[in-house]
Amino acid sequence: MELYSGHINKLIEELAALPGIGHKSAGRLAFHIIGMPEDKVKRLANTLVTARENVRYCKCCCTLTDEDICPICKNEGRDHSTIMVVENARDLAAYEKTGKYDGVYHVLHGAISPMIGIGPGDIRLKELMVRLEGDVQEVIIATNSSLEGETTAMYISKLIKPTGIKVTRIANGIPVGGDLEYIDEVTLLRALDGRITL
Ligand code: ZN
Repeated sequence: MELYSGHINKLIEELAALPGIGHKSAGRLAFHIIGMPEDKVKRLANTLVTARENVRYCKCCCTLTDEDICPICKNEGRDHSTIMVVENARDLAAYEKTGKYDGVYHVLHGAISPMIGIGPGDIRLKELMVRLEGDVQEVIIATNSSLEGETTAMYISKLIKPTGIKVTRIANGIPVGGDLEYIDEVTLLRALDGRITL
């Protein structure tokens, strides 16, 4: 016999398929949603659909944005000759929050991981190489210090070296395996200031 109604089971199943949400949390969320006023549930559902439909990749740096070109790439006050390469939009947000970096970014949307079959062609590297044909003085590689992040950093550095553009790597102040988004601003800035040329 099914413990819950079919609709509740389906809702739990969908929620549990999201990253970081186990079956128990999915159950808690499902019952919370069922208990919410109907208009609030509709608003939540609409927000999900609208966000999915309207958020796109910036045509320049590949971050997620509501417009073709994101506000950072559009900003003429920023130093467009310095590009910081990060794994995802959350890492970009972490550096942006410090308010001390005035260059632009490039978001890879992942890292090279041969173990799970993610190769250079699966992240936004081609787009980065196209950008390097313009006036770029420095590429700062700020991928995570995990095995995947280091592999990606090494790969990118080898790729860029022949162009003569300066390639740097943020310092090792970042704990191994640490996600940039969880690291405090002081550590982030120290890692940026202490970057080394590859
Ligand atoms: Zn952009």
